[in-house]
Amino acid sequence: MTDNMNLTRAQFDEVMVPNYAPAAVIPVRGEGSRVWDQQGTEYVDFAGGIAVNCLGHCHPALVAALKEQGEKLWHLSNTMTNEPALALATKLVESTFAERIYFANSGAEANEAALKLARRYAIDNFGEHKVEVIAFDKAFHGRTFFTVSVGGQAAYSDGFGPKPAGITHLPFNDIAALEAAVSDNTCAIMLEPLQGEGGIINGDPEFLRAVRRLADKHNALVIFDEVQSGMGRTGELFAYMGTEIVPDILTSAKALGGGFPIAAMLTTTKIASHLKVGTHGSTYGGNPLACAIGNAVMDVVNTSEVLDGVKRREQLFRDGLAGINEKYHVFSEVRGKGLLLGAVLNEQYAGRSRDFLNAAVAEGLLVLMAGANVVRFTPSLVIPEADISEGLARFERAVAKVTA
Ligand SMILES: *Cc1c(COP(=O)(O)O)cnc(C)c1O
Repeated sequence: MTDNMNLTRAQFDEVMVPNYAPAAVIPVRGEGSRVWDQQGTEYVDFAGGIAVNCLGHCHPALVAALKEQGEKLWHLSNTMTNEPALALATKLVESTFAERIYFANSGAEANEAALKLARRYAIDNFGEHKVEVIAFDKAFHGRTFFTVSVGGQAAYSDGFGPKPAGITHLPFNDIAALEAAVSDNTCAIMLEPLQGEGGIINGDPEFLRAVRRLADKHNALVIFDEVQSGMGRTGELFAYMGTEIVPDILTSAKALGGGFPIAAMLTTTKIASHLKVGTHGSTYGGNPLACAIGNAVMDVVNTSEVLDGVKRREQLFRDGLAGINEKYHVFSEVRGKGLLLGAVLNEQYAGRSRDFLNAAVAEGLLVLMAGANVVRFTPSLVIPEADISEGLARFERAVAKVTA
């Protein structure tokens, strides 16, 4: 089949919609934190499928869950519930602030559900005027029209006609701007506690406290988009656990399935009660196959072994990057938390994150960008320490080439 079709990167431009610009190589196999391309070239994976492959590639526990459930039951639709969904929802409830779970298939869908729920809750309780969503510059919440409009990059939402109304964008971490903008018309304040796509920007503790305080004062809900920061990424099960505040609604996706599409919206019983029968839904959301894999991910990730391991690995990355920077002077700082790290390029290399990414691929290393000024690292949460050293050695060679 695919083996004798001579599939090449060039064919991408002939058969695919041109909304992506994929790398020149085509990976065909992965194991742990290593990936091999069509030519058999091996790469160390510091990208983790954009913070998705939290247990690396083909983790035995996930492969086993996929095979076992794959031979049992894949899909029913939400006219019936199923055991894997009930088990996963129970685990999420037992491990977080949440009391109720809604399953979806992608981060955008979970966020769409969160926003619709916040609107419905506000309208039911306080009236039709209370629909304003406050969100932040550079935020990323997905690509459905509502979520991309709430996201803080106009370039992603422009050019598609009239946008959903009632959305206000503010500078992130700006308490004064937030104080000035929140009102009794605000239904929700939505944010990533640690901005990912926007450039790996931590929410300041004081800012997060202000978000909670102002939301409470005006009967607005706090929505944490933890699609990227959640599921162990920061060394806590969810990033909010490392802050002083608890959100009203939280969304998870990416690492929740470790590479299999699944997402969840977590909330309280009181808020959830406003999504009554028929108000929202999804054909695939919460299907047994995805939830079986989500259960396996939770069982491995939500352990002190993995979560403490993230903190240890963060230090290895920080030490390694600091060593490289001492020699080559390319970064102004390393931001982020756990294994969601961004090396910020200094003035001399501003705007050149793609050059570092390309140089890394040439050295056998997969990394990510977070905008033009940040090289992002979101490896597997269980990446072997030997792979971290090897990847950092390759990264140093890439940095040497870019700076030569
Ligand atoms: C990736 C991401 C999304 C979108 O998730 P999809 O699964 O691509 O829809 C939303 N929010 C954040 C913070 C993300 O990083």
